[in-house]
Amino acid sequence: MNTTKINEYAAVVGQPIIDDLKLLSKRLKGKVIQNINSTAVGGGVAEILSRMVPLLRELNIDTHWDVIKGGRQFFDVTKKFHNALHGRPEEINQRDLDIFLEISQNNIEEMDIYGDIVFVHDPQPIVLVKKKKENKWIWRCHIDVSSPNQMIWEFLEDFIFNYDAAVFSSPAFSPKLPIRQFLISPSIDPLSDKNRELPQETIDGVLRKYEIYKSKPIITQISRFDRLKDPLGVIEVYKQVKRYRDCQLLLAGGGASDDPEGKKVLEEVKDKAKHDPDIHILLLPQNDIEINALQRASTVIIQKSIKEGFGLTVTEALWKAKPVVASNVGGIPLQITHKYSGLLCNSIEGAGFAIKQLLNSPEYAKKLGENGREHVRNNFLLTRHLKDYMLLFLSLYHREDVVYL
Ligand code: UDP
Repeated sequence: MNTTKINEYAAVVGQPIIDDLKLLSKRLKGKVIQNINSTAVGGGVAEILSRMVPLLRELNIDTHWDVIKGGRQFFDVTKKFHNALHGRPEEINQRDLDIFLEISQNNIEEMDIYGDIVFVHDPQPIVLVKKKKENKWIWRCHIDVSSPNQMIWEFLEDFIFNYDAAVFSSPAFSPKLPIRQFLISPSIDPLSDKNRELPQETIDGVLRKYEIYKSKPIITQISRFDRLKDPLGVIEVYKQVKRYRDCQLLLAGGGASDDPEGKKVLEEVKDKAKHDPDIHILLLPQNDIEINALQRASTVIIQKSIKEGFGLTVTEALWKAKPVVASNVGGIPLQITHKYSGLLCNSIEGAGFAIKQLLNSPEYAKKLGENGREHVRNNFLLTRHLKDYMLLFLSLYHREDVVYL
């Protein structure tokens, strides 16, 4: 959990932004905010909540975070939903829907709902809205729903329509809904262990620990082992680059407790990488300083996602002024303007070409990284996110025809 104090952020974003947050928070005095999601660790949602909840509390907003109970069967089904909402082919049958509804019903019975504002993250806890009374309910969709499987989307719509508002990360995902909709991008915390500056000896120590050498360029993807992150595609990209330039590939990922597919994907990745000592596959369960160090030690960061809600790993890399090559999908183009703050790609060949270009032109790579860092400073830091959420909470108590944001 975050123990950083709100005033410490003034050094990064300036005092006026902190003053604004304090002023806004006063307007929410007395309101209880209850966040609900499906995992306390792993993945972007848990990452954001672990930083945001303590800061809202410090701002005297009574904020809580609860996690639903699932189990293997439930998370197998919700992972299928996740894939299908991202447009991947998935066989979802009536039994899957029944399991989803049955476990959701258990959560409805067991979970105490006490928030004036109940802030539900992603599809897993979505059915809880059946407990809605006089309080306000927000559904926060963190995933890329630009081309969802219609059957699952329509199944979820029955629940979404009962919320007071829905929040999406990018205009590209915004569906037609009869409820109020907000566009709010995610953020990273510049002062967290994941993102703060690190002494060079810490970075070198982590490289030594994992036997990664600075003598060859390091190409890195940090991601859960998930097909939508395309780790096998990343190995293909690396192989293309390696034909022209000796380099190393670092694939670092941990699991998330609501992602049961990771183990299998990891096995496939290990199989594809075997016999190449320059491919490092690391499992780093919740080791923020090590992830930070590996990102900082990298020559190029790649994020070859097939779909991506936002891609906090891209934000984290840009904040570290790293040149990034990332797929032109989901929330990534909000972060990277092609040839200005990184390079966007649409294929394995395109990604390989972009990485070669960056390895051959360090000055160009450096410039892209610097531009990326400024873009993140202006748009994707936690302080902006806090402000947007407070305005969102306040707007729930205003009539719809009043333009608030
Ligand atoms: N992450 C991590 N350890 C890992 C893999 C990922 O801490 O082994 C973090 C990563 O640094 C980022 C978040 O998990 O903060 C992933 O968020 P993103 O939006 O990139 O993807 P998601 O997992 O939510 O699809």
